[in-house]
Amino acid sequence: MNEKVDVLIIGAGASGAAMAWSLADTRMRILCLDQGDWQNTSDFPSNGRDWEARLTEDFALSPNRRRLSADYPVNDDDSPIKISNFNGVGGGTILYAGHYPRLHPSDFRVRSLDGVADDWPIDYETLEPFFALNDRMMGVASLAGDPAYPEKDQVMGPIPLGRTGQVLGKALNDLGWHWWPSDAAIATREYEGRAPCINLGQCGSGCAQGAKGTTDLTYWPEAQRARVEIRPRCRVSRIETGPDGMATGAHYFDADGKEHFQPAEIVILACNGIGTPRLLLNSASGRFPNGLANSSGLVGRNLMLHPYAQIRGHFDQPMDGHRGSPICIWSHEFYETEAARGFVRGYCYQFSRGMGPVRTATTGMADGLLPWGEDHHDAFRRLFGHSAGMLAICEDLPEEHNRVTLDPDLKDANGIPAPKISYRLSENSRLMLDHSVERGVKILKAAGARDITTRAPLPYAGWHLMGTARMGTDPERSVVNEWGRSHDVKNLFIVDGSVFVTSGGVNPTSTIQAVALYVADQIKTRLYELFD
Ligand SMILES: Cc1cc2nc3c(=O)[nH]c(=O)nc-3n(C[C@H](O)[C@H](O)[C@H](O)COP(=O)(O)OP(=O)(O)OC[C@H]3O[C@@H](n4cnc5c(N)ncnc54)[C@H](O)[C@@H]3O)c2cc1C
Ligand code: SF4
Repeated sequence: MNEKVDVLIIGAGASGAAMAWSLADTRMRILCLDQGDWQNTSDFPSNGRDWEARLTEDFALSPNRRRLSADYPVNDDDSPIKISNFNGVGGGTILYAGHYPRLHPSDFRVRSLDGVADDWPIDYETLEPFFALNDRMMGVASLAGDPAYPEKDQVMGPIPLGRTGQVLGKALNDLGWHWWPSDAAIATREYEGRAPCINLGQCGSGCAQGAKGTTDLTYWPEAQRARVEIRPRCRVSRIETGPDGMATGAHYFDADGKEHFQPAEIVILACNGIGTPRLLLNSASGRFPNGLANSSGLVGRNLMLHPYAQIRGHFDQPMDGHRGSPICIWSHEFYETEAARGFVRGYCYQFSRGMGPVRTATTGMADGLLPWGEDHHDAFRRLFGHSAGMLAICEDLPEEHNRVTLDPDLKDANGIPAPKISYRLSENSRLMLDHSVERGVKILKAAGARDITTRAPLPYAGWHLMGTARMGTDPERSVVNEWGRSHDVKNLFIVDGSVFVTSGGVNPTSTIQAVALYVADQIKTRLYELFD
Protein backbone atom coordinates (compact mmCIF):
# COMPACT_ATOMS: atom_id res chain seq x y z
CA MET A 1 0.00 0.00 0.00
CA ASN A 2 1.14 3.58 -0.71
CA GLU A 3 2.37 5.68 2.17
CA LYS A 4 -0.25 8.02 3.61
CA VAL A 5 -0.06 11.69 2.56
CA ASP A 6 -1.46 14.72 4.34
CA VAL A 7 -3.16 16.12 1.26
CA LEU A 8 -4.27 14.28 -1.85
CA ILE A 9 -5.24 16.53 -4.77
CA ILE A 10 -7.00 14.89 -7.70
CA GLY A 11 -6.54 16.84 -10.96
CA ALA A 12 -3.45 18.80 -12.02
CA GLY A 13 -5.24 21.42 -14.13
CA ALA A 14 -5.97 25.08 -13.49
CA SER A 15 -7.35 24.76 -9.96
CA GLY A 16 -5.38 21.72 -8.72
CA ALA A 17 -2.09 23.44 -9.56
CA ALA A 18 -3.01 26.67 -7.76
CA MET A 19 -4.15 24.72 -4.70
CA ALA A 20 -0.99 22.57 -4.60
CA TRP A 21 1.33 25.58 -4.90
CA SER A 22 -0.47 27.52 -2.18
CA LEU A 23 -0.59 24.61 0.28
CA ALA A 24 3.09 23.81 -0.30
CA ASP A 25 4.26 26.39 2.23
CA THR A 26 2.57 24.40 5.06
CA ARG A 27 5.25 21.73 4.48
CA MET A 28 2.52 19.09 4.58
CA ARG A 29 3.09 16.02 2.41
CA ILE A 30 1.10 16.79 -0.74
CA LEU A 31 0.47 14.47 -3.66
CA CYS A 32 -1.44 15.20 -6.86
CA LEU A 33 -2.79 12.47 -9.13
CA ASP A 34 -3.78 13.17 -12.73
CA GLN A 35 -4.98 10.73 -15.35
CA GLY A 36 -2.91 12.50 -18.02
CA ASP A 37 0.80 13.16 -18.49
CA TRP A 38 3.20 16.09 -18.77
CA GLN A 39 3.22 17.76 -22.18
CA ASN A 40 6.28 17.96 -24.39
CA THR A 41 6.12 21.31 -26.18
CA SER A 42 8.11 19.99 -29.14
CA ASP A 43 5.18 17.62 -29.85
CA PHE A 44 2.70 20.49 -30.17
CA PRO A 45 1.05 20.88 -33.60
CA SER A 46 2.55 24.33 -34.25
CA ASN A 47 5.93 22.63 -34.79
CA GLY A 48 4.67 20.92 -37.95
CA ARG A 49 2.99 21.79 -41.22
CA ASP A 50 0.05 19.49 -40.45
CA TRP A 51 -0.98 21.62 -37.48
CA GLU A 52 -4.54 22.19 -38.64
CA ALA A 53 -5.09 18.51 -39.39
CA ARG A 54 -4.01 17.64 -35.86
CA LEU A 55 -6.75 19.87 -34.46
CA THR A 56 -9.16 17.18 -35.58
CA GLU A 57 -6.97 14.32 -34.34
CA ASP A 58 -4.74 14.15 -31.24
CA PHE A 59 -5.40 17.84 -30.41
CA ALA A 60 -9.14 17.77 -31.08
CA LEU A 61 -11.19 19.65 -28.50
CA SER A 62 -13.58 16.79 -27.84
CA PRO A 63 -12.24 13.87 -25.79
CA ASN A 64 -14.57 11.63 -27.81
CA ARG A 65 -12.66 12.50 -30.94
CA ARG A 66 -9.17 12.69 -29.39
CA ARG A 67 -9.44 9.34 -27.59
CA LEU A 68 -5.98 9.54 -26.03
CA SER A 69 -5.13 7.22 -23.16
CA ALA A 70 -5.59 10.17 -20.77
CA ASP A 71 -9.13 10.79 -21.98
CA TYR A 72 -12.43 9.44 -20.80
CA PRO A 73 -15.50 9.40 -23.05
CA VAL A 74 -18.35 11.83 -22.37
CA ASN A 75 -21.84 11.03 -23.62
CA ASP A 76 -22.98 14.46 -24.80
CA ASP A 77 -25.62 13.27 -27.29
CA ASP A 78 -28.33 14.92 -25.19
CA SER A 79 -26.80 18.39 -25.39
CA PRO A 80 -26.68 20.92 -28.24
CA ILE A 81 -23.31 22.03 -26.82
CA LYS A 82 -20.59 19.36 -26.94
CA ILE A 83 -17.92 18.98 -24.28
CA SER A 84 -14.32 20.12 -24.81
CA ASN A 85 -11.51 19.57 -22.33
CA PHE A 86 -7.89 18.50 -21.96
CA ASN A 87 -6.63 15.83 -19.57
CA GLY A 88 -3.05 16.04 -18.39
CA VAL A 89 -0.74 18.15 -16.24
CA GLY A 90 -2.03 21.66 -16.95
CA GLY A 91 -5.57 20.42 -17.64
CA GLY A 92 -7.65 22.70 -19.82
CA THR A 93 -4.99 25.45 -19.75
CA ILE A 94 -2.99 23.44 -22.31
CA LEU A 95 -5.66 24.14 -24.94
CA TYR A 96 -7.20 27.33 -23.65
CA ALA A 97 -6.90 30.64 -25.44
CA GLY A 98 -5.58 32.33 -22.29
CA HIS A 99 -8.39 34.88 -22.46
CA TYR A 100 -8.47 35.86 -18.86
CA PRO A 101 -11.31 38.07 -17.60
CA ARG A 102 -12.50 37.95 -14.02
CA LEU A 103 -16.13 37.56 -13.03
CA HIS A 104 -17.65 40.97 -12.29
CA PRO A 105 -18.64 42.02 -8.75
CA SER A 106 -22.32 41.79 -9.81
CA ASP A 107 -21.89 38.11 -10.72
CA PHE A 108 -21.66 37.19 -7.06
CA ARG A 109 -25.04 38.84 -6.26
CA VAL A 110 -27.45 37.94 -9.07
CA ARG A 111 -30.30 36.91 -6.76
CA SER A 112 -30.09 40.26 -4.93
CA LEU A 113 -29.71 42.25 -8.13
CA ASP A 114 -31.90 40.42 -10.61
CA GLY A 115 -34.00 37.96 -8.58
CA VAL A 116 -32.61 34.91 -10.39
CA ALA A 117 -30.36 31.99 -9.40
CA ASP A 118 -28.55 32.48 -6.07
CA ASP A 119 -26.01 34.82 -4.58
CA TRP A 120 -22.58 33.35 -3.96
CA PRO A 121 -21.59 33.00 -0.28
CA ILE A 122 -18.44 35.01 -1.09
CA ASP A 123 -17.96 38.20 -3.07
CA TYR A 124 -15.54 39.87 -5.46
CA GLU A 125 -13.83 41.81 -2.65
CA THR A 126 -13.05 38.54 -0.80
CA LEU A 127 -11.48 37.12 -3.93
CA GLU A 128 -9.67 40.29 -4.99
CA PRO A 129 -6.29 39.53 -3.34
CA PHE A 130 -6.40 36.03 -4.82
CA PHE A 131 -7.21 37.37 -8.29
CA ALA A 132 -4.18 39.64 -7.98
CA LEU A 133 -1.91 36.84 -6.71
CA ASN A 134 -3.10 34.54 -9.47
CA ASP A 135 -2.48 37.21 -12.13
CA ARG A 136 1.13 37.38 -10.98
CA MET A 137 1.54 33.60 -10.90
CA MET A 138 -0.06 33.03 -14.31
CA GLY A 139 1.62 36.11 -15.82
CA VAL A 140 -1.33 38.14 -17.05
CA ALA A 141 -0.94 40.80 -19.74
CA SER A 142 -3.44 43.66 -19.50
CA LEU A 143 -3.99 47.39 -19.68
CA ALA A 144 -4.94 48.98 -16.37
CA GLY A 145 -8.00 51.21 -16.22
CA ASP A 146 -10.77 49.14 -17.82
CA PRO A 147 -13.99 50.83 -16.66
CA ALA A 148 -15.80 47.46 -16.72
CA TYR A 149 -13.92 46.45 -13.55
CA PRO A 150 -12.83 47.81 -10.19
CA GLU A 151 -9.24 48.99 -10.31
CA LYS A 152 -6.70 46.19 -10.73
CA ASP A 153 -2.93 46.02 -11.06
CA GLN A 154 -1.18 45.47 -14.37
CA VAL A 155 1.49 42.76 -14.33
CA MET A 156 2.74 43.46 -17.87
CA GLY A 157 1.59 45.35 -20.96
CA PRO A 158 -1.29 44.03 -23.08
CA ILE A 159 -1.20 41.74 -26.10
CA PRO A 160 -1.08 43.66 -29.40
CA LEU A 161 -4.34 44.99 -30.81
CA GLY A 162 -3.25 44.14 -34.34
CA ARG A 163 -5.38 45.20 -37.27
CA THR A 164 -8.33 43.28 -35.88
CA GLY A 165 -8.30 45.21 -32.62
CA GLN A 166 -7.81 48.51 -34.40
CA VAL A 167 -10.57 48.02 -36.97
CA LEU A 168 -13.11 46.55 -34.57
CA GLY A 169 -12.16 48.95 -31.76
CA LYS A 170 -12.84 51.87 -34.09
CA ALA A 171 -16.24 50.40 -35.02
CA LEU A 172 -17.08 50.10 -31.30
CA ASN A 173 -15.98 53.71 -30.80
CA ASP A 174 -18.31 54.79 -33.63
CA LEU A 175 -21.18 52.95 -31.95
CA GLY A 176 -20.24 54.36 -28.54
CA TRP A 177 -19.86 50.87 -27.04
CA HIS A 178 -17.31 49.73 -24.46
CA TRP A 179 -14.16 47.91 -25.53
CA TRP A 180 -10.75 47.33 -23.97
CA PRO A 181 -7.64 45.24 -24.72
CA SER A 182 -8.31 41.78 -23.31
CA ASP A 183 -6.59 40.50 -20.22
CA ALA A 184 -4.65 37.45 -21.39
CA ALA A 185 -2.54 34.89 -19.55
CA ILE A 186 0.10 35.34 -22.24
CA ALA A 187 3.57 36.73 -21.53
CA THR A 188 4.20 39.85 -23.61
CA ARG A 189 7.73 40.07 -22.23
CA GLU A 190 10.12 37.59 -20.64
CA TYR A 191 8.42 36.63 -17.43
CA GLU A 192 9.49 34.19 -14.71
CA GLY A 193 11.43 32.01 -17.14
CA ARG A 194 8.74 32.20 -19.81
CA ALA A 195 9.62 33.51 -23.25
CA PRO A 196 7.47 36.27 -24.71
CA CYS A 197 4.70 35.61 -27.21
CA ILE A 198 5.91 35.57 -30.81
CA ASN A 199 2.41 35.56 -32.29
CA LEU A 200 2.51 31.95 -33.49
CA GLY A 201 -1.27 31.98 -33.22
CA GLN A 202 -1.48 28.42 -31.94
CA CYS A 203 -2.68 29.05 -28.41
CA GLY A 204 -5.60 26.65 -28.92
CA SER A 205 -3.35 23.65 -29.48
CA GLY A 206 -0.54 24.24 -27.01
CA CYS A 207 1.97 27.08 -27.03
CA ALA A 208 5.33 25.69 -28.20
CA GLN A 209 6.96 29.02 -27.30
CA GLY A 210 5.91 28.63 -23.65
CA ALA A 211 4.47 32.15 -23.59
CA LYS A 212 0.95 31.10 -22.66
CA GLY A 213 0.26 30.72 -18.94
CA THR A 214 -0.38 27.01 -18.64
CA THR A 215 -0.13 25.59 -15.14
CA ASP A 216 2.55 23.05 -16.11
CA LEU A 217 4.79 26.12 -16.63
CA THR A 218 3.47 28.47 -13.94
CA TYR A 219 2.34 26.84 -10.70
CA TRP A 220 3.67 23.30 -11.06
CA PRO A 221 7.44 23.93 -11.28
CA GLU A 222 7.24 26.09 -8.15
CA ALA A 223 5.06 23.57 -6.33
CA GLN A 224 7.47 20.79 -7.22
CA ARG A 225 10.42 22.84 -5.96
CA ALA A 226 8.49 23.07 -2.69
CA ARG A 227 8.30 19.25 -2.64
CA VAL A 228 4.78 18.67 -3.89
CA GLU A 229 4.69 15.35 -5.75
CA ILE A 230 2.77 14.85 -9.00
CA ARG A 231 1.98 11.31 -10.06
CA PRO A 232 0.78 11.49 -13.69
CA ARG A 233 -1.11 8.81 -15.64
CA CYS A 234 -3.06 7.77 -12.55
CA ARG A 235 -6.82 7.71 -12.95
CA VAL A 236 -8.87 7.85 -9.77
CA SER A 237 -11.89 5.56 -9.78
CA ARG A 238 -13.43 6.37 -6.38
CA ILE A 239 -12.93 8.14 -3.08
CA GLU A 240 -13.04 5.82 -0.10
CA THR A 241 -14.65 6.70 3.23
CA GLY A 242 -14.22 5.17 6.68
CA PRO A 243 -16.75 4.15 9.33
CA ASP A 244 -16.84 7.76 10.62
CA GLY A 245 -17.88 9.03 7.17
CA MET A 246 -14.56 10.82 6.59
CA ALA A 247 -12.61 10.34 3.36
CA THR A 248 -9.70 7.94 3.82
CA GLY A 249 -8.12 8.26 0.37
CA ALA A 250 -8.65 7.27 -3.24
CA HIS A 251 -8.48 4.19 -5.42
CA TYR A 252 -6.71 4.67 -8.72
CA PHE A 253 -5.42 2.84 -11.79
CA ASP A 254 -1.83 3.45 -12.86
CA ALA A 255 -0.66 3.60 -16.52
CA ASP A 256 -0.39 -0.21 -16.61
CA GLY A 257 -3.96 -0.61 -15.41
CA LYS A 258 -2.82 -1.75 -11.95
CA GLU A 259 -5.09 -0.73 -9.07
CA HIS A 260 -3.77 1.11 -6.00
CA PHE A 261 -5.12 2.78 -2.91
CA GLN A 262 -3.68 6.14 -1.84
CA PRO A 263 -4.49 6.98 1.80
CA ALA A 264 -4.75 10.66 2.77
CA GLU A 265 -5.81 12.91 5.65
CA ILE A 266 -7.44 15.46 3.32
CA VAL A 267 -8.81 14.88 -0.18
CA ILE A 268 -9.21 17.79 -2.62
CA LEU A 269 -11.06 17.43 -5.90
CA ALA A 270 -9.93 19.54 -8.88
CA CYS A 271 -11.24 17.41 -11.77
CA ASN A 272 -13.40 20.15 -13.40
CA GLY A 273 -17.18 20.59 -13.66
CA ILE A 274 -17.64 17.16 -15.23
CA GLY A 275 -14.79 15.07 -13.80
CA THR A 276 -15.62 16.04 -10.21
CA PRO A 277 -19.33 15.10 -10.18
CA ARG A 278 -18.42 11.96 -12.11
CA LEU A 279 -15.97 10.95 -9.38
CA LEU A 280 -18.39 11.81 -6.54
CA LEU A 281 -21.19 9.80 -8.19
CA ASN A 282 -18.79 6.90 -8.80
CA SER A 283 -17.92 6.99 -5.07
CA ALA A 284 -21.40 5.95 -3.91
CA SER A 285 -21.35 3.52 -0.97
CA GLY A 286 -23.73 2.05 1.61
CA ARG A 287 -23.37 5.18 3.70
CA PHE A 288 -23.55 7.55 0.71
CA PRO A 289 -25.93 5.71 -1.66
CA ASN A 290 -26.53 8.68 -3.98
CA GLY A 291 -22.87 9.49 -4.38
CA LEU A 292 -20.35 11.08 -2.06
CA ALA A 293 -21.10 14.55 -0.63
CA ASN A 294 -24.55 14.38 -2.21
CA SER A 295 -27.08 14.63 0.64
CA SER A 296 -28.44 17.74 -1.16
CA GLY A 297 -28.96 15.74 -4.36
CA LEU A 298 -27.17 18.56 -6.19
CA VAL A 299 -23.99 16.75 -7.24
CA GLY A 300 -23.99 16.91 -11.05
CA ARG A 301 -26.92 19.36 -11.22
CA ASN A 302 -26.93 23.00 -12.33
CA LEU A 303 -24.37 22.35 -15.07
CA MET A 304 -23.52 25.65 -16.78
CA LEU A 305 -21.69 25.70 -20.14
CA HIS A 306 -21.80 29.29 -21.45
CA PRO A 307 -23.68 29.18 -24.76
CA TYR A 308 -21.51 30.90 -27.40
CA ALA A 309 -22.46 32.84 -30.51
CA GLN A 310 -19.95 33.30 -33.31
CA ILE A 311 -20.16 36.25 -35.69
CA ARG A 312 -17.51 36.56 -38.38
CA GLY A 313 -16.98 38.81 -41.37
CA HIS A 314 -14.49 39.45 -44.16
CA PHE A 315 -12.73 42.67 -45.02
CA ASP A 316 -11.32 44.05 -48.24
CA GLN A 317 -8.14 45.09 -46.46
CA PRO A 318 -5.79 42.41 -45.08
CA MET A 319 -6.36 41.62 -41.39
CA ASP A 320 -4.11 39.69 -38.97
CA GLY A 321 -4.83 36.25 -40.39
CA HIS A 322 -4.29 33.43 -37.89
CA ARG A 323 -1.14 34.99 -36.47
CA GLY A 324 -1.18 36.45 -32.99
CA SER A 325 -3.05 35.39 -29.87
CA PRO A 326 -6.55 34.58 -31.08
CA ILE A 327 -8.36 37.12 -28.92
CA CYS A 328 -7.30 40.78 -28.88
CA ILE A 329 -10.02 42.97 -27.36
CA TRP A 330 -13.26 42.51 -25.44
CA SER A 331 -16.48 44.42 -24.95
CA HIS A 332 -18.55 44.24 -21.79
CA GLU A 333 -21.18 46.66 -23.14
CA PHE A 334 -24.03 44.17 -22.73
CA TYR A 335 -22.90 42.50 -19.52
CA GLU A 336 -25.42 43.70 -16.95
CA THR A 337 -29.19 43.21 -16.96
CA GLU A 338 -31.30 45.73 -18.82
CA ALA A 339 -35.01 44.90 -18.61
CA ALA A 340 -35.83 46.27 -22.09
CA ARG A 341 -33.71 43.53 -23.69
CA GLY A 342 -36.16 40.83 -22.57
CA PHE A 343 -33.61 38.62 -20.80
CA VAL A 344 -31.75 38.74 -17.50
CA ARG A 345 -27.99 39.07 -17.09
CA GLY A 346 -25.82 39.43 -20.20
CA TYR A 347 -22.76 38.54 -22.18
CA CYS A 348 -19.36 39.77 -23.23
CA TYR A 349 -17.75 39.76 -26.65
CA GLN A 350 -14.24 38.51 -27.24
CA PHE A 351 -12.94 39.72 -30.60
CA SER A 352 -10.89 37.24 -32.53
CA ARG A 353 -8.42 37.21 -35.40
CA GLY A 354 -8.56 34.98 -38.46
CA MET A 355 -8.27 31.28 -39.21
CA GLY A 356 -5.61 29.08 -40.77
CA PRO A 357 -5.83 28.07 -44.43
CA VAL A 358 -7.57 24.73 -43.91
CA ARG A 359 -10.27 26.13 -41.60
CA THR A 360 -10.71 29.10 -43.92
CA ALA A 361 -11.42 26.64 -46.71
CA THR A 362 -13.68 24.27 -44.77
CA THR A 363 -15.78 26.98 -43.10
CA GLY A 364 -15.80 29.02 -46.33
CA MET A 365 -17.30 26.05 -48.14
CA ALA A 366 -19.75 25.30 -45.32
CA ASP A 367 -20.90 28.95 -45.38
CA GLY A 368 -21.30 28.98 -49.16
CA LEU A 369 -18.53 31.58 -49.60
CA LEU A 370 -16.04 29.35 -51.38
CA PRO A 371 -17.17 27.73 -54.66
CA TRP A 372 -15.46 24.93 -56.58
CA GLY A 373 -14.37 25.69 -60.12
CA GLU A 374 -12.96 28.72 -61.81
CA ASP A 375 -13.54 31.21 -59.00
CA HIS A 376 -12.15 28.98 -56.30
CA HIS A 377 -8.72 30.52 -55.89
CA ASP A 378 -9.90 34.12 -56.14
CA ALA A 379 -12.64 33.46 -53.61
CA PHE A 380 -10.13 31.80 -51.26
CA ARG A 381 -7.82 34.81 -51.52
CA ARG A 382 -10.73 37.11 -50.58
CA LEU A 383 -11.31 35.04 -47.43
CA PHE A 384 -7.87 33.95 -46.21
CA GLY A 385 -6.15 36.60 -44.12
CA HIS A 386 -9.18 38.87 -44.50
CA SER A 387 -11.47 37.63 -41.73
CA ALA A 388 -12.11 38.74 -38.16
CA GLY A 389 -15.01 38.51 -35.81
CA MET A 390 -16.16 37.79 -32.33
CA LEU A 391 -17.52 35.26 -29.92
CA ALA A 392 -20.29 36.22 -27.50
CA ILE A 393 -20.07 34.37 -24.18
CA CYS A 394 -23.55 34.28 -22.71
CA GLU A 395 -24.19 33.94 -19.00
CA ASP A 396 -25.77 30.53 -18.41
CA LEU A 397 -28.12 30.53 -15.44
CA PRO A 398 -28.13 27.44 -13.21
CA GLU A 399 -30.99 25.01 -13.87
CA GLU A 400 -31.22 21.71 -12.00
CA HIS A 401 -32.29 19.71 -15.05
CA ASN A 402 -28.98 20.55 -16.77
CA ARG A 403 -26.81 17.89 -15.28
CA VAL A 404 -24.06 15.29 -15.25
CA THR A 405 -25.06 11.71 -14.42
CA LEU A 406 -23.33 8.37 -14.94
CA ASP A 407 -23.93 6.70 -18.25
CA PRO A 408 -25.38 3.21 -17.64
CA ASP A 409 -23.31 1.64 -20.44
CA LEU A 410 -20.39 3.84 -21.46
CA LYS A 411 -17.08 3.25 -19.62
CA ASP A 412 -13.49 4.49 -19.92
CA ALA A 413 -10.46 2.29 -20.64
CA ASN A 414 -10.31 1.24 -16.96
CA GLY A 415 -13.97 0.22 -16.89
CA ILE A 416 -15.02 3.28 -14.84
CA PRO A 417 -18.54 4.58 -15.69
CA ALA A 418 -18.39 7.63 -17.96
CA PRO A 419 -20.35 10.86 -17.51
CA LYS A 420 -23.55 11.61 -19.40
CA ILE A 421 -24.58 15.21 -20.07
CA SER A 422 -28.22 16.30 -20.21
CA TYR A 423 -28.43 19.96 -21.16
CA ARG A 424 -31.13 22.18 -22.68
CA LEU A 425 -30.71 25.75 -23.83
CA SER A 426 -33.02 28.01 -21.82
CA GLU A 427 -35.31 30.63 -23.33
CA ASN A 428 -33.22 33.27 -21.53
CA SER A 429 -30.04 31.97 -23.24
CA ARG A 430 -31.79 31.81 -26.63
CA LEU A 431 -32.85 35.45 -26.36
CA MET A 432 -29.38 36.46 -25.21
CA LEU A 433 -27.75 34.63 -28.13
CA ASP A 434 -30.12 36.33 -30.59
CA HIS A 435 -29.34 39.73 -29.08
CA SER A 436 -25.60 39.10 -29.26
CA VAL A 437 -25.80 38.01 -32.90
CA GLU A 438 -27.84 41.05 -33.88
CA ARG A 439 -25.46 43.48 -32.11
CA GLY A 440 -22.41 41.58 -33.36
CA VAL A 441 -23.54 41.92 -36.98
CA LYS A 442 -24.02 45.63 -36.33
CA ILE A 443 -20.43 45.92 -35.09
CA LEU A 444 -19.05 44.10 -38.12
CA LYS A 445 -21.10 46.22 -40.51
CA ALA A 446 -19.88 49.37 -38.75
CA ALA A 447 -16.35 48.04 -39.30
CA GLY A 448 -17.00 47.62 -43.03
CA ALA A 449 -17.16 43.81 -43.13
CA ARG A 450 -18.79 41.83 -45.94
CA ASP A 451 -19.85 38.15 -46.12
CA ILE A 452 -20.92 38.04 -42.46
CA THR A 453 -21.77 34.61 -41.07
CA THR A 454 -23.24 33.67 -37.69
CA ARG A 455 -23.56 30.52 -35.59
CA ALA A 456 -25.45 30.23 -32.30
CA PRO A 457 -25.09 28.24 -30.22
CA LEU A 458 -21.64 27.16 -31.29
CA PRO A 459 -21.80 23.34 -31.01
CA TYR A 460 -18.24 22.35 -30.04
CA ALA A 461 -17.80 25.05 -27.42
CA GLY A 462 -18.62 23.27 -24.14
CA TRP A 463 -15.27 24.17 -22.60
CA HIS A 464 -16.45 26.14 -19.54
CA LEU A 465 -17.66 23.50 -17.10
CA MET A 466 -19.32 24.92 -14.00
CA GLY A 467 -21.88 24.56 -11.25
CA THR A 468 -22.12 20.82 -10.59
CA ALA A 469 -21.05 20.91 -6.89
CA ARG A 470 -22.08 24.41 -5.95
CA MET A 471 -20.90 26.46 -3.01
CA GLY A 472 -23.29 27.77 -0.33
CA THR A 473 -24.05 28.05 3.35
CA ASP A 474 -27.20 25.87 3.27
CA PRO A 475 -26.37 22.12 3.11
CA GLU A 476 -29.74 21.46 1.47
CA ARG A 477 -29.00 23.88 -1.38
CA SER A 478 -25.27 23.36 -1.91
CA VAL A 479 -22.55 20.71 -1.94
CA VAL A 480 -19.63 22.61 -0.37
CA ASN A 481 -19.60 25.40 2.18
CA GLU A 482 -18.37 28.95 1.67
CA TRP A 483 -14.74 27.82 1.89
CA GLY A 484 -14.94 24.77 -0.34
CA ARG A 485 -15.39 22.02 2.27
CA SER A 486 -18.04 19.38 1.59
CA HIS A 487 -21.03 19.76 3.92
CA ASP A 488 -21.21 15.97 4.30
CA VAL A 489 -17.55 14.86 4.42
CA LYS A 490 -15.48 17.18 6.52
CA ASN A 491 -12.07 16.35 5.06
CA LEU A 492 -13.20 16.56 1.44
CA PHE A 493 -12.77 19.82 -0.52
CA ILE A 494 -13.70 20.86 -4.06
CA VAL A 495 -11.91 23.71 -5.84
CA ASP A 496 -12.64 23.49 -9.58
CA GLY A 497 -15.38 25.12 -11.66
CA SER A 498 -17.97 22.79 -10.07
CA VAL A 499 -18.30 25.12 -7.10
CA PHE A 500 -19.50 28.10 -9.17
CA VAL A 501 -22.96 29.29 -8.06
CA THR A 502 -23.49 31.29 -11.25
CA SER A 503 -21.42 31.38 -14.42
CA GLY A 504 -21.04 35.07 -15.19
CA GLY A 505 -20.72 35.99 -18.86
CA VAL A 506 -16.94 35.67 -19.12
CA ASN A 507 -14.39 32.84 -19.38
CA PRO A 508 -14.03 31.31 -15.92
CA THR A 509 -10.42 30.26 -15.38
CA SER A 510 -9.16 33.39 -13.65
CA THR A 511 -12.04 33.08 -11.15
CA ILE A 512 -11.63 29.28 -10.80
CA GLN A 513 -8.01 29.80 -9.80
CA ALA A 514 -8.77 32.73 -7.49
CA VAL A 515 -11.35 30.53 -5.72
CA ALA A 516 -8.79 27.70 -5.45
CA LEU A 517 -6.23 30.08 -3.88
CA TYR A 518 -8.91 31.41 -1.52
CA VAL A 519 -9.91 27.88 -0.41
CA ALA A 520 -6.22 27.03 0.08
CA ASP A 521 -5.86 30.11 2.23
CA GLN A 522 -8.92 29.11 4.28
CA ILE A 523 -7.47 25.61 4.78
CA LYS A 524 -4.19 27.11 6.02
CA THR A 525 -5.93 29.59 8.30
CA ARG A 526 -8.21 26.93 9.79
CA LEU A 527 -5.69 24.08 9.89
CA TYR A 528 -6.17 23.36 13.59
CA GLU A 529 -9.98 23.30 13.39
CA LEU A 530 -10.36 22.07 9.84
CA PHE A 531 -12.74 19.20 10.58
CA ASP A 532 -14.85 20.86 13.29
C1 LIG B 1 -10.31 24.68 -26.18
C2 LIG B 1 -10.47 25.37 -24.86
C3 LIG B 1 -10.33 26.76 -24.82
C4 LIG B 1 -10.49 27.43 -23.59
N1 LIG B 1 -10.26 28.78 -23.53
C5 LIG B 1 -10.37 29.42 -22.34
C6 LIG B 1 -10.02 30.79 -22.22
O1 LIG B 1 -9.57 31.43 -23.17
N2 LIG B 1 -10.18 31.38 -21.01
C7 LIG B 1 -10.63 30.69 -19.93
O2 LIG B 1 -10.79 31.30 -18.85
N3 LIG B 1 -10.90 29.38 -20.00
C8 LIG B 1 -10.77 28.72 -21.17
N4 LIG B 1 -11.01 27.38 -21.24
C9 LIG B 1 -11.48 26.68 -20.04
C10 LIG B 1 -10.34 26.33 -19.08
O3 LIG B 1 -9.47 25.44 -19.69
C11 LIG B 1 -10.99 25.71 -17.84
O4 LIG B 1 -11.87 26.66 -17.28
C12 LIG B 1 -9.99 25.33 -16.77
O5 LIG B 1 -8.94 24.57 -17.25
C13 LIG B 1 -10.76 24.55 -15.71
O6 LIG B 1 -9.92 24.31 -14.62
P1 LIG B 1 -10.22 23.11 -13.63
O7 LIG B 1 -9.17 23.10 -12.62
O8 LIG B 1 -11.65 23.23 -13.18
O9 LIG B 1 -10.15 21.79 -14.50
P2 LIG B 1 -9.13 21.29 -15.62
O10 LIG B 1 -8.14 22.32 -15.96
O11 LIG B 1 -9.96 20.70 -16.70
O12 LIG B 1 -8.32 20.14 -14.87
C14 LIG B 1 -8.92 18.94 -14.47
C15 LIG B 1 -7.84 17.87 -14.41
O13 LIG B 1 -8.37 16.76 -13.67
C16 LIG B 1 -7.92 15.57 -14.24
N5 LIG B 1 -8.88 14.50 -13.88
C17 LIG B 1 -10.21 14.49 -14.09
N6 LIG B 1 -10.75 13.35 -13.60
C18 LIG B 1 -9.73 12.64 -13.07
C19 LIG B 1 -9.65 11.37 -12.43
N7 LIG B 1 -10.74 10.62 -12.22
N8 LIG B 1 -8.43 10.93 -12.01
C20 LIG B 1 -7.31 11.69 -12.21
N9 LIG B 1 -7.34 12.90 -12.83
C21 LIG B 1 -8.54 13.36 -13.24
C22 LIG B 1 -7.89 15.86 -15.74
O14 LIG B 1 -7.00 14.97 -16.40
C23 LIG B 1 -7.46 17.31 -15.78
O15 LIG B 1 -6.07 17.45 -15.98
C24 LIG B 1 -10.82 26.69 -22.43
C25 LIG B 1 -10.91 25.29 -22.49
C26 LIG B 1 -10.74 24.63 -23.69
C27 LIG B 1 -10.85 23.12 -23.72
S1 SF4 C 1 0.24 33.44 -30.01
FE1 SF4 C 1 1.73 33.68 -28.39
S2 SF4 C 1 0.81 32.57 -26.68
FE2 SF4 C 1 -0.29 31.91 -28.50
S3 SF4 C 1 0.77 30.08 -29.18
FE3 SF4 C 1 1.73 31.81 -30.22
S4 SF4 C 1 3.48 32.41 -28.92
FE4 SF4 C 1 2.10 31.12 -27.74
